[in-house]
Amino acid sequence: MREGDDVADAIDLEAELRRLMIAIARDMVARRFITATEGNLSTRLDPERLLITPTSTNKGRLTENQLVVVDRSGRVLEGRGQPSSEIDLHLTVYRERPDVNAVVHAHPPMATAFTVAGVELAQRTLPEIVVLFGSIPTAPYGTPTTPELAKTVEGLVRDANALLLEKHGSLTLGRTLVEAYENLERVEWAAEVTLWARLLGKVEPLPDAQMEKLLAIRAEKAAVGSSAAD
Ligand SMILES: [Zn+2]
Repeated sequence: MREGDDVADAIDLEAELRRLMIAIARDMVARRFITATEGNLSTRLDPERLLITPTSTNKGRLTENQLVVVDRSGRVLEGRGQPSSEIDLHLTVYRERPDVNAVVHAHPPMATAFTVAGVELAQRTLPEIVVLFGSIPTAPYGTPTTPELAKTVEGLVRDANALLLEKHGSLTLGRTLVEAYENLERVEWAAEVTLWARLLGKVEPLPDAQMEKLLAIRAEKAAVGSSAAD
């Protein structure tokens, strides 16, 4: 392949990722995973550059040319705005997880209510969540928009693709932007079902024997590189 073709492919890929990020951001607002200027998304463009949403902007009205390109240390390379104030959160994930190409931080109401109430979502109750995530841990409280918040997730993101941030929101990771977003959908679904179940009656955890089977399926999927559930 000629060098010019490589450059053209890279430009196409970046344009596609910009379009996808805007589409997902709008969907997140429409579905109330975020409101007003909340939330932020990022994705790797290549090993050296990240595309990230700008700070203080309504993600429902964002346009492709408002997205910001930064290097691996967060320095702005392209774009007029400033990158998300939670950029440290994103940079920490990319540093800790070479397999992750996209990060979504949101404030989904049900899942956030769990952590505001101090109720763990890391419960052994939903088989598909066990297979997909193993667990949804909660990172201890850290002041939003400060490096302190990024510190709270440092160890946890090594083993988790979905976590809650205490009294704050969610952080979901994926090999693609779509996967990171779908993991957010799954977290909110788990919170909603768990909330209804708790309102309806006592919620029993899955027995050890059933957990073992689910964790074996999870290990099998990881071995073949699949994280999808039907
Ligand atoms: Zn937030």
